[in-house]
Amino acid sequence: MIEFKNVEKYYGDFHALKNINLHFKKGEVVVVIGPSGSGKSTMLRCINGLEEITKGDLTINEYNIHDKKTNINKIRKNVGMVFQHFNLYPHKTVLENIMLAPVKVLKQTKEEAQKNAEKLLDKVNMLDKKDSYPSQLSGGQQQRIAIARGLAMDPNVLLFDEPTSALDPETIEDVLDVMKKLAKEGMTMIVVTHEMGFAREVADRVIFMADGQVLEDREAAAFYENP
Ligand code: ADP
Ligand code: ADP
Repeated sequence: MIEFKNVEKYYGDFHALKNINLHFKKGEVVVVIGPSGSGKSTMLRCINGLEEITKGDLTINEYNIHDKKTNINKIRKNVGMVFQHFNLYPHKTVLENIMLAPVKVLKQTKEEAQKNAEKLLDKVNMLDKKDSYPSQLSGGQQQRIAIARGLAMDPNVLLFDEPTSALDPETIEDVLDVMKKLAKEGMTMIVVTHEMGFAREVADRVIFMADGQVLEDREAAAFYENP
């Protein structure tokens, strides 16, 4: 469903992605690891259209993201993203944060959007906080809200950029539990993370990046037998 063919990404003179060739299938859970600055975040940001690729082809379902005619909103509807720092709207309640995009972009009615938001909040075990504001919640709780928001557009794939790196240790497990549940339900997920337990337990594949290149792309089991 997502394919990189000879993809190159430059930031000015800086070569951030070097000849990336990757294929992500529906229902796969892929963990991306590698040192800081190796291009992991850039790869995710290219998939959801936050960054443009410089050369090559990147297709998401039938859309070629490099094609200028491709409607970027179409891609963002297909691709949900969860960031390290949650990026919730501070002046909106939990429920409003989740309802915003479905009402604005998908033109759902408020009633529809609210019903769906409540269902998603229940899934991430946060329904009792639906009228709270983000600042009243722990990091782990905010991240679970961000996951619910990522799911609200009913995307084909959910991208995670170091979703637990900014969290207190005691709230990390709650977030990982939600991610494990989604994986079990068949969600396609690409996860940049240092959580080796999650990778070992949940990932189908592990991709190792360094210096803008993919150095390893293997089934998770093979990766851990022979790292
Ligand atoms: P990772 O996620 O593996 O830490 P990134 O994809 O964030 O790596 O960054 C890869 C490299 O690209 C880093 O050296 C970073 O400084 C650089 N970089 C990222 N975003 C930009 C940008 N907007 N402009 C210039 N350089 C950038
Ligand atoms: P995070 O760690 O939360 O992913 P970063 O600090 O890596 O955030 O990046 C924050 C923003 O700064 C991103 O939009 C990224 O593209 C940009 N950025 C990262 N590195 C550079 C750089 N060397 N030059 C310019 N912008 C950069």
